[in-house]
Amino acid sequence: MEEIYKELVEIVGAGYVSNQPEERFIYSRDPGTMEPHEPDLVVMPATTEEVQKIVLLANRKRVPIVPMGGGLVLSGLSRPLKGGIVLDMKRMNRILEVNETSRYVLVEAGTAQGMLQAYLKKNHPGLKHSMPDSPPMATIGGNVLIHGSGHLSHAAGFHSEMLNGLEVVLPTGEIVKIGSCSTSPYWFGRAPLPDLAGLFLGWFGTTGIVTKLAIKLFPNRPYQDVGVFVTEDPELVPDVLHRVTGVQVAEDVTAWMTPRPDWARGFQHININYAADTPEELTGKRNLIRASLQKYIREKVGGFMVLPPPMKKGFLEAPQTTLVQFADVRKGGGFEYVGGIMPIELFARAYRAGIEIAEHQRTTYSTGARVIGLGHCMMFFFAYPFNRADEADVERARKALEETNRVVLDMGGIPWKAEAPAQKQIIQKMDPKTFDLMNRIRGVLDPQGIMNPGNWEVE
Ligand SMILES: Cc1cc2nc3c(=O)[nH]c(=O)nc-3n(C[C@H](O)[C@H](O)[C@H](O)COP(=O)(O)OP(=O)(O)OC[C@H]3O[C@@H](n4cnc5c(N)ncnc54)[C@H](O)[C@@H]3O)c2cc1C
Repeated sequence: MEEIYKELVEIVGAGYVSNQPEERFIYSRDPGTMEPHEPDLVVMPATTEEVQKIVLLANRKRVPIVPMGGGLVLSGLSRPLKGGIVLDMKRMNRILEVNETSRYVLVEAGTAQGMLQAYLKKNHPGLKHSMPDSPPMATIGGNVLIHGSGHLSHAAGFHSEMLNGLEVVLPTGEIVKIGSCSTSPYWFGRAPLPDLAGLFLGWFGTTGIVTKLAIKLFPNRPYQDVGVFVTEDPELVPDVLHRVTGVQVAEDVTAWMTPRPDWARGFQHININYAADTPEELTGKRNLIRASLQKYIREKVGGFMVLPPPMKKGFLEAPQTTLVQFADVRKGGGFEYVGGIMPIELFARAYRAGIEIAEHQRTTYSTGARVIGLGHCMMFFFAYPFNRADEADVERARKALEETNRVVLDMGGIPWKAEAPAQKQIIQKMDPKTFDLMNRIRGVLDPQGIMNPGNWEVE
């Protein structure tokens, strides 16, 4: 490791590599419940060529290498399970090109969500990207690569579906381009070529290090509003979501159910965010949304909340901060969630399961969902807070998460950005031939097995 340290200093300079206990401590953990694992070394490259040199070195010395963006995934995916080098992408944060007409942006993978949001606001106010509700220092690369979602996911699906192209350093050190950029100077999309982006999406950094990516941008309309539809009956929610997404005017449709504050307990709240270029268009969209749910209003089983202005303002913000506030419910403020990707018809089952698990594991909870695409599926989250200074409390949350992963799989959903133990649960349910294909692909791309080992593995 001493030799590797010296070679890394030659590649990135002494200020951007560390083998010191402070850095090894910080990079051993993320804010969730997973046990820490210390790296031997931490390195922060500034260019694709530096990444390439580091990967070649790791191959030569056969040491694991773990790419990391913001390290905010909560499920511990950038903890080095088998030691080695954590490669922190945060210095690779340049915004390289905005194509206003074809609406895309090319960024380095370590660009923070908040940086891109602020850059577009200042330089291209008519455009925006889909923001996840994660803290703004989460990276564009880290989020797209785990199939994240955000405040334009109703309009355009998972963030991985908004991906136009990639530059990747393969585990063997070659630099490859994926998508139109492989053949054209434009990063306009992945079609019509064979779609190789799938080799890197959902793999948790086990198949390569993404150094650049282009993502789609969307019109940033000046008029915005939100309606909150409320019902007591969770069984109605799939049809509510089906109807409201069917009119295709919302940008984001999210549900939230929480036992606190008291007035919210027992209700299903469905936020419908929409935007327009003129006040008339906004009114037209509002009318369409209301008309789609008229049946339930007439039957007096649901209706729209009158929103106090501060509450409305909060609901119009991206990112939303309610989950962060939820983490502060208990002193020591941590939280982690299972995001079950599942069809929307499972909504009521998922909600009831979340409450049962929280009762059973003696913890509190917050549940909710984000509709992906036009109701093609949802990310149903089951969040559990914990006091990180109290190991018994962390263990309660960990048990609730474990049980939730099992329940999500049993009902036909799939845990998103799954923790290493949950990945094993998924593999057990997966068609063995699919897992075999995954292993063959990984073996071809990473013959030395150096990339984020311990993930998507049985042992
Ligand atoms: C309060 C809160 C709210 C959240 N809300 C949302 C939300 O609304 N939507 C959402 O999608 N997520 C949400 N999240 C989850 C998570 O924070 C985000 O998905 C975040 O964007 C992950 O990005 P990151 O840069 O932190 O990734 P990291 O945790 O650093 O990495 C994630 C995975 O990608 C790999 N990786 C990272 N960069 C690269 C690279 N350049 N090349 C190859 N592999 C790489 C890592 O090895 C790891 O396996 C939320 C989290 C919190 C704490």
